Amino acid sequence: MYRTHNNGSLRAADVNKEVTLAGWVQKSRDKGFIIWVDLRDRYGMTQLVFDQERTDAALMEEARKLGREFVIQVTGTVVERDSKNPNIATGDIELLVSKLEILNASLTPPFTIEDETDGGEDLRMKYRYLDIRRKPVRESLIFRHRVALEVRKYLSEQDFIEVETPYLIKSTPEGARDFVVPSRMNEGQFYALPQSPQTFKQLLMVGGMDKYFQIVKCFRDEDLRADRQPEFTQIDCEMAFVEQEDILNIFEGLTRHLLKEVNGVEIEKFPRMLYDDAMRLYGNDKPDIRFGMKFGELNEVAQHKDFGVFNNAELVVGIAVPGGNSYTRKEIDKIIEWVKRPQVGALGMVYSRCNDDGSFKSSVDKFYDQEDLAKWAEVAGAQKGDLVCILSGETNKVRAQMSALRMEFAERLGLRKPDEFAPLWVIDFPLLELDEETGHYHAMHHPFTSPKPGQIGLLDTKPGEVKANAYDLVLNGNEIGGGSIRIHDKETQAIMLRHLGFSEEEAKAQFGFLMDAFEYGAPPHGGLAFGLDRLVAILGGQETIRDFIAFPKNNSGRDVMIDAPAPLDNEQLQELNLKLNN
Ligand code: ASP
Repeated sequence: MYRTHNNGSLRAADVNKEVTLAGWVQKSRDKGFIIWVDLRDRYGMTQLVFDQERTDAALMEEARKLGREFVIQVTGTVVERDSKNPNIATGDIELLVSKLEILNASLTPPFTIEDETDGGEDLRMKYRYLDIRRKPVRESLIFRHRVALEVRKYLSEQDFIEVETPYLIKSTPEGARDFVVPSRMNEGQFYALPQSPQTFKQLLMVGGMDKYFQIVKCFRDEDLRADRQPEFTQIDCEMAFVEQEDILNIFEGLTRHLLKEVNGVEIEKFPRMLYDDAMRLYGNDKPDIRFGMKFGELNEVAQHKDFGVFNNAELVVGIAVPGGNSYTRKEIDKIIEWVKRPQVGALGMVYSRCNDDGSFKSSVDKFYDQEDLAKWAEVAGAQKGDLVCILSGETNKVRAQMSALRMEFAERLGLRKPDEFAPLWVIDFPLLELDEETGHYHAMHHPFTSPKPGQIGLLDTKPGEVKANAYDLVLNGNEIGGGSIRIHDKETQAIMLRHLGFSEEEAKAQFGFLMDAFEYGAPPHGGLAFGLDRLVAILGGQETIRDFIAFPKNNSGRDVMIDAPAPLDNEQLQELNLKLNN
């Protein structure tokens, strides 16, 4: 037996017991006549003591040889500490060692294995197995396990069955590029890794599984914008014989369960917001509603004077920054510089100060009088002492810019508190989205999403106006889940694919299996998927999902520890019948 206890378990009640422990040397302090060693494992830390008066000389010498991260096994007697450490669970005791065995020596680790390490991101990723020994990383992985366990518990109790679906499949369009895998047995042919199990879970509904879920890896070859991973995990779900309302209820229940079990937070009913309102009031389909600063549309009260910038704009929109009147001119200039950065892209910003005496002072006083400015303040919901910031231009662009500015202010003002949770359903998404570059429409969610009843006719005349039975769950300004009620008949699916630009042959080649299945008694069905990595990060109060993934990839999609991706040797290329261009 390697150990009788783990390093987090011994207490004062264990004093005088003879025990055996194993673990890693965190650090040792050698005072000459006495040596202390901190022994670490997943469960905690136990202090070992070797002292001249009680320990034999040979063992003292052995103890002196211990370096950081050596793996050792020790036997000894639990003794009460002279000076107790209330900061650790085992702080009342220490182990007076009588036997020491070095199970494995260690090189000096390339960074310190401490809560606050001196290792940079790259180094930590290269030696991720050492990084995982650090408490914050270890705890994040344990936290993730707890969330996943609660998901399984809750859904199982609701009669969901976890079913695995294949990874070697054919393209499932979720709007990204596929990762592909060459088939050796089928020369010149390729599998695609699933962007999600979307079509399979629909087929499980046709198969009568009724309620499916799966904690599953998905693969999307897209540009790794901030904090994305090429492979990530979904809690993927589907239900038969349901309407949108049933789905929202079940998964609101799941989210409520997680918030309660994992965070101890109880939230009653989640608010709901129409997609159109989210865009109008927050410029964003995943608004963070932990704080206000809603948009006020100012067209009516700002387009009646000689100010061309506003008069020529499709949208003039303002937000009230609480207490913003205290900003100096210089600080406001900095904010204007900020909105003009290429990442945000505004051409400029107009502002109006709301003074404590009820008067206003704006950067466009030449054009607008106090009465105008009072109306702006009212529409933007500004109080005395606030600053009204105004952007104008083409609607979609201005909304995106203002949304970025709103979030920036929220960061500066400390309004995005990680321990405060504000879930929100955003519903009634558009079915289609216009790709400005190609001029083509593509599915806003995915091609299997059903239009709102009675709207299918609009597809021919006003495709951009058709609304879908699609919904997102937003938490603290992040989309944590999304789904839809699906199309479940062949004709509607064919119409949809035609509108997305698939010819009949293409549709058949790519989705024939699904359309065929729809002809054998497909039940009405719908579902959604949560992004587990992000959900866990938010519940854990952290910014980045990488902390919650044992072996994440870097921003170029590389695993720097195993050094992947890597070239194939010629033999393997030949076997796969592949030829490289250079
Ligand atoms: N497959 C969808 C996604 O990955 C989720 C869903 O519609 O259920 O976003």
